[in-house]
Amino acid sequence: MHADLSQQIRQQAAACRAIILAHNYQPDEIQALADFTGDSLELSRKAAQVDAEIIVFCGVYFMAETAALLNPTRTILLPDIAAGCPMANMLDAEQLRQLKGLHPGAQVVCYVNSTAEVKAESDICCTSANAVPVVQSLDPQRPVIFVPDQHLGHFVQERTGRPLIIWPGYCPTHVRIQAREVAAARAAHPGALVLAHPECSQPVRHAADQVLSTGQMCRYAAGASTSEFIIATEVGLLYRLRKENPGKRFYPATSRALCPNMKKITLEKVLLALQRRAPVVAILDAGIQARARQALERMLTISA
Ligand code: SF4
Repeated sequence: MHADLSQQIRQQAAACRAIILAHNYQPDEIQALADFTGDSLELSRKAAQVDAEIIVFCGVYFMAETAALLNPTRTILLPDIAAGCPMANMLDAEQLRQLKGLHPGAQVVCYVNSTAEVKAESDICCTSANAVPVVQSLDPQRPVIFVPDQHLGHFVQERTGRPLIIWPGYCPTHVRIQAREVAAARAAHPGALVLAHPECSQPVRHAADQVLSTGQMCRYAAGASTSEFIIATEVGLLYRLRKENPGKRFYPATSRALCPNMKKITLEKVLLALQRRAPVVAILDAGIQARARQALERMLTISA
């Protein structure tokens, strides 16, 4: 069934010069089908370079919107337009303008998990892979506002030693992971290293051996001499880790770390999107497009 659908998708994609990009949290069969899988930073870089006419973005809305900002001449398809990110919706542009009003002169860093309108109100974007160097690149004399993820913000604050003005957003999937679950996984797999995503809460981050973005976890696991890992992030990443490291073992910190929005993308919806060339994600407001793109492009000049 999956093989049939995947073959039809491949044929349809070739016929309309489409490339399929998938986030590391996508369902296994979508990752298996994609031309390229990665974390938000890797996908942003890829989306900026792609010369295919159509980009089918298998992820959530802000990711497709980021691709539309970085490559506005391409058609960006999001197979399920209702695949959103609750964290991105925890802050709107008006709330950010009010926060900026309370801290005149502050520089604004916004995590890519945000709307185009919020990016347009920001000086620079970041992902979980480059948030530390992005903050380090800013003027040390001026305050820094960090939105919308409080956990990534606190992680960056710890790593840089720089006090940040942090918006209290969070990822409902990552905050579900509990430190006691990490401890239980360690007890069950005593030789394993714990890798946690910076969207996890502080007790989980502090219980981990390494705090890394999903792309960094893939590189770390491939290069480490250890053969067992406990993974504290969305469970979709386990597919890629296991595929790329067949001789190593990966255990989820908890099977409850599942993002329902990421799992809204199905093979059937990908095929339909290609056949209908819809739903399209585009930025209609030229001012927002230009300012949000500037914040993203500024981020892409910082190496992670
Ligand atoms: S895992 Fe969290 S941050 Fe990522 S899309 Fe889902 S809700 Fe948003």
